[in-house]
Parts: sequence; structure tokens; C-alpha cells
Amino acid sequence: MTLADIAAAAGLRTPIRHQLFIDGRFVDAADGQTLATLNPHDNSVIADVAMAGREDVDRAVAAAERAFPVWARMAAADRGRILLKLADLIEANTEELARLETLDTGHPLKDSRALDVPRTAACYRYFGGMADKFQGDVVPVETGFLNYLLREPVGVVGQVVPWNFPLMFTAWKMAPALAAGNTVVLKPAEITPLSTLKIAELMMEAGMPPGVVNIVPGLGHVAGQYIAEHPRIAKVAFTGSTATGRRIVQASAGNLKKVQLELGGKGANIVFDDANLTAAVNGSAWAIFHNQVQACIAGSRLMLQESIADEFLERFATLARSIRLGNPMDSATEMGPLTSALHRDRVLSYVDVAREQGGELIAGGRAPVDEALSRGCYVEPTIVKAKSPQDRIAQEEVFGPFVTVLTFKDEAEAMAIANGTEYGLGSGLWTSHLQRAHRMAREMKAGMVWINSYKRVNPGSPFGGVGQSGYGREMGFDAMREYTQVKSVWVNVDAQIPPWYPR
Ligand code: NAP
Ligand code: MG
Repeated sequence: MTLADIAAAAGLRTPIRHQLFIDGRFVDAADGQTLATLNPHDNSVIADVAMAGREDVDRAVAAAERAFPVWARMAAADRGRILLKLADLIEANTEELARLETLDTGHPLKDSRALDVPRTAACYRYFGGMADKFQGDVVPVETGFLNYLLREPVGVVGQVVPWNFPLMFTAWKMAPALAAGNTVVLKPAEITPLSTLKIAELMMEAGMPPGVVNIVPGLGHVAGQYIAEHPRIAKVAFTGSTATGRRIVQASAGNLKKVQLELGGKGANIVFDDANLTAAVNGSAWAIFHNQVQACIAGSRLMLQESIADEFLERFATLARSIRLGNPMDSATEMGPLTSALHRDRVLSYVDVAREQGGELIAGGRAPVDEALSRGCYVEPTIVKAKSPQDRIAQEEVFGPFVTVLTFKDEAEAMAIANGTEYGLGSGLWTSHLQRAHRMAREMKAGMVWINSYKRVNPGSPFGGVGQSGYGREMGFDAMREYTQVKSVWVNVDAQIPPWYPR
């Protein structure tokens, strides 16, 4: 099948972009190398995508450097207008973007349409509106002086993102960086580059000047590593695993870049016996199973108070078994394939890890038997009861349809288990006890806490973690602070300064 046939079969109306995007143009890699991106539904090749090497990253950085002075000095409202236009274009292209994202990642089309694309548009719109509202300050210093603080862009920003939410994560990274006046070199994950390249096309349509945004698909240890090392990149923002995050920090040391890290998680989702169980069962299933659990904030440790554990687990397992697994292009599908075969195998290997440590398999634990799904990266929703909160399945991030169940007696034990991992990203609790809810929120080692809900995100609300989940915040005013640096300017207006050296 030709690329055009593949696009048509997926219901796409426009060509699939498969080249690097540098200086406002789609171009091949300098050495002509490509890397195939696959459809995780059946592991067929979608497209051979240009693979950036060091020379291409250099070209992208040079373009971003040239574009920086103009972009940074452009009226903030004009930068904002381009991002607002982009948000409109994304909405106008919802079906196209949703299908492309589903084709490349395996996200159910229902989710791509209802979540990925609208959240992407909302993020560009929020930061488009923010561009001319994020302002400096005046400090009340000694009489006769004016001290004002400028919030300046940092320069050329490198961004490296993973494969689990390509559209959304590029928006979370690019929107605030661009609103604040930075120029960008972004590397999408090697297995999911397509939607990001499509956004580049829409950016041009929105009037983004050449060089402001450059997209360099490629290998993490080549293009990604070089972005982290690059002497002329001022900041690197990374979303991905904790292990790679450490490598980024080391690589960034050469020119002392600013670093922002959004890393792994092992979210505690705690259900107390005074919770609304119907809401908690459904909310906990969403907390874990949405996006095939490929979410850093997934509620992957389901913690149940002993008195309700059996009843809850029965209802939860019944719901999990009823989740409709299937071709993600089918609008009725509720769970698609994992995004790569390598990752599916890794997830399934945790079933053995669980067994070795005495875990009890309650549901799933295998690829579906359905012949129609046999070539894809599918895993049934899997529920395992751990023996101890110290077990590997209760400590390590699995990042696939796999939820670890733990039980606790009381609030104190729940708190100890919840905070007993190296991670600290998102956590949630279900209770009708007002004081307990706030007490738990205060004590949780986490960047985000959800009470009687889970996994809420909004462009205005800071997103990020503590501990081995990283540092820095995306979204909201915090994201604008992350992408700017403060300059303090002192002006002698009419200060009478007695001479320090009277002569
Ligand atoms: P990963 O292996 O760390 O990859 C993430 C990105 O880094 C990819 O673009 C990858 O390129 C690149 N990369 C790999 N090695 C690199 C290196 N040495 N230098 C620079 N870049 C490098 O992560 P993943 O397994 O794809 O993604 C899943 C992880 O991301 C999970 O741990 C998840 O929790 C985390 N995550 C965190 C958040 C958050 O906001 N906290 C959100 C989503 C996901 P390749 O594509 O070539 O490998
Ligand atoms: Mg793919």
C-alpha cells in the first residue's frame, strides 16, 4: 500500500507528513535516514519517517536561533494571536488529527476525539490568551529608585516528549514556551511522530514565522541526547521515564541548561469505606484504564479499606472485564492496543513478576484471544492483588493495563502505603469525610491530589511531580515562569546618594 492508500484507509483527507520540519519547511534528514512508524493495531508500517541526526539538530538549532530575536520582541499579543489561530485550526481539524493520533498510537478514536484533540486545542488557546497577560513586577525598594523585573524568554528551548500522548504533550510543552517568546526544537517519540508533524503544518497555516518551531523526529539516544547536550540550547524540557530523566540532567551539565522534568509515577488511588462506592468504582476504572494505562498519572495502585475491599473489588473487576477492547479506529472501542509490541511484552512480563512474588491474578493477565486482534499490541485489563506494598508490582511503574490492588486498615496505614514509593506525581482518594480528605491531601507526597475524582487536568492547573517524578510544572502561570527568567533593572530616578568616598 502506498502512503496515500494508508491515509485513505484511515479516513484521512490530507497527506501524512513524514519529514523533519526545520526553518518552516518539511525536509529529509541530512543523511537520508528514515525510521518506520507502525500502526499498533496490526503492526503494519504506516510511514517511513525522516530520522534526525546531529547535523539535523544543528540545523534546527541554527534556525531557532535566527528566529529568536524577532519572535521574542514581537508584541506578546501578536504571538498570542498565532497560538489562538492554531487552536481554532486544531478544532477545525479535529477528525483529521484524531484519526492520525489513533492510527499512530492506538488511542481509541472516541478518546482521541473527545480528549486528546480538545485538550490540545485548549492548551494552545489558554497560552495564546496568556501571552499578553503574563507580566513583570515592580519592587518597592528604597526611595529614589525604580526597580522593575522583566520576565524574559530563555532562548532556544529543547523539548523531548514520550509516545503516550503525543498531541497533548507537544502542546503542553510548546504552547507556554512560544507564548513566553522562546523558539523551540522538539523531538517527538520515535514511535509516534505523525501528529506532531501535522501540528507543524497547522502552525504554518496559523502564521508562525519560519524557525520558531522545529520538529526533529529521531532516536532518543541520538537526537534526544544531542538536544540535552547542545551548547546553544538554553533549556531542555523533558517528559519520559525517570531513568532517561537522569541521563538528561547529566547531558545538560555542559552548558548548565535549565532543566524541567516530568517523569514516572505510581499513583495511589485510595478508597475509604465511607466513599460513594458507585462513583469510586467507575472513577477508579477511569483512573487506571484510560489510554490503556499509558499515563504517568494513572492510579496504578488501587488501595482499598479492608471493610469494603471484597465488595469493591468484585464490582471493579466486573467493570474491567466489560471494557470493550478492539480496533481503536472503531468508535465503540473503549480500550485499544498498547503503542508498541516491545511495550506490550514488558507489560505482560509483570504478570510473571507478580506470580513470583505471590500476587493473586484477579482479571486479565494475557493478550486477548480474539483472532482479529492477534497481530496487534493488545493486553486485557489486568488486576493483581499484591501480597505486600513492597512487592515490585506495587513499587515499579508498569505503564500498561495492569492495576495493583493493596488493602489497608485505617487512615494512618493508607498514608504510609501511599507515600511509600520513590515517585510523587498524582494521587487520589475517595471519601465523604471532609477533614480526612484535606488531611490526606496535605500529607500526600505528590504534585497533584484528586479528591472524589481522579486524573483531572486543565491548562490553568499546574502539573508535575516531586521526588523521582521530576521537577518543574507544566500548565498555568507556573509554566510561564518555567519558560522565562527574571531580569532585575535598577533605575536611579531621583535618589540622593551620599558619596561613599567623600573627597
Ligand atoms: P523514555 O524512554 O524516557 O522516552 C521519552 C523520550 O525521551 C522519547 O522521545 C525518547 O526517544 C527520548 N530519549 C530516550 N533516551 C534519551 C536520551 N538518552 N536522551 C534524550 N532523550 C532520550 O520514556 P518512555 O518509556 O517512552 O515513556 C514512558 C515514561 O514517560 C513513563 O515513565 C511515564 O511515566 C513517563 N511520563 C511522564 C509524564 C509526566 O508528566 N510526569 C507524562 C507522560 C509520561 P525514543 O522515542 O527514541 O525512545
Ligand atoms: Mg506508531
